[in-house]
Amino acid sequence: MITDKPVCVTGASGFIASHIVAQLLHGGYRVRGTVRKSPDYYPYLQQLPGANERLELVKADLLSKESFLPAFRECEYIIHTASPYVINVKNPAKDLVEPSLQGTLGVMEAAAKTATIRRVILTSSVAAVTDEPDSTKVFTERDWNTLSSLDRHPYHYSKTLAERAAWEFVDREKTAFDLISINPSMVTGPSLGPDINTTNAMIRDIMSGVYPGIMDLNWGFVDVRDTARAHILAMETSGAAGRYLCSAGLMEMRKLVELLSLAGYGDYPLPNKDLTGRFGTALMTALSFTQPRDTGTYIRTHIGRSIRYGCSKIKQELGISFMPVMESILEAVEDMIRKGHLVPPPSRSASPH
Ligand code: NAP
Repeated sequence: MITDKPVCVTGASGFIASHIVAQLLHGGYRVRGTVRKSPDYYPYLQQLPGANERLELVKADLLSKESFLPAFRECEYIIHTASPYVINVKNPAKDLVEPSLQGTLGVMEAAAKTATIRRVILTSSVAAVTDEPDSTKVFTERDWNTLSSLDRHPYHYSKTLAERAAWEFVDREKTAFDLISINPSMVTGPSLGPDINTTNAMIRDIMSGVYPGIMDLNWGFVDVRDTARAHILAMETSGAAGRYLCSAGLMEMRKLVELLSLAGYGDYPLPNKDLTGRFGTALMTALSFTQPRDTGTYIRTHIGRSIRYGCSKIKQELGISFMPVMESILEAVEDMIRKGHLVPPPSRSASPH
């Protein structure tokens, strides 16, 4: 334990943040989590081991700068995770960029006004690294997403603007605290709260007949508990610095469907038409224009390309190792079934595990 002061976790209710809160409590830390609703709304946080004695929930909203100042009082460390993680929105400027960018700036300003702060750990994303895979390249911490805009991958744009603004803030203001960003790929695994997060919703969709066929798509995945641990290691490791890409490995859609079937989910409406060849890719590119705008853009910029992230920095400097991607996905699947987010086919009365 490196501090006896509360560690502030913004957006404590979230998928990643609730695991950060759980691990901090497990490690003996005092935690101050910021949330948007009444503390009674979060029994899954209040019931965590150690929460009675060491968890405090306070209200703060990304759109209200002032709300973070009282939340940071006395703290030495802030883990800033709060940011909207949604793909198709009506108004990208208002629904994504404003809360992400203004919220991060508000957090940085409040941190700068709080003399006790030593370090801010920002949950950024590989979305701030690229929005378009390049099969010839391994992306690293040196890469920045320069292509996204309000019209092209607005979620990626919101994460890029927020992370850039945070780095510019510490440079410009010569802050007394340092900044570290954790840039995870798609985060999966079991959720502590009742809601389903955007990444797990994609896995649910693959298992619910939403996808017309198996496309030539692939994703980097990382377990939510490893992602949470990376944030805490970034806080605890005095020599930690800069950005850290955080991804356990790559999973192709074809392989994912094959492994789900092998794991006993073959009776779910998994996609079975092979659309991974040249014809399938051309067909899906054409069909992408019939999809919601941001899903369509995603298909067009990702299909037929391989994404690879170099994660040696996080492994060497923070000493983290990642659990295998499929193990994490299968735990997410079982969790979604338990919580009713993924409905088993009528033929099945019990899950395979
Ligand atoms: P999540 O479960 O949707 O959590 C988002 C959190 O942000 C929630 O606590 C939410 O609060 C809070 N939030 C949203 N808008 C807010 C506002 N205006 N004011 C205050 N709080 C607000 O998503 P997650 O997957 O845990 O994502 C957490 C962070 O990780 C985000 O920064 C996301 O960009 C990043 N990330 C996620 C992934 C992934 O695959 N999950 C990958 C890379 C990076 P409410 O509960 O009140 O809505």
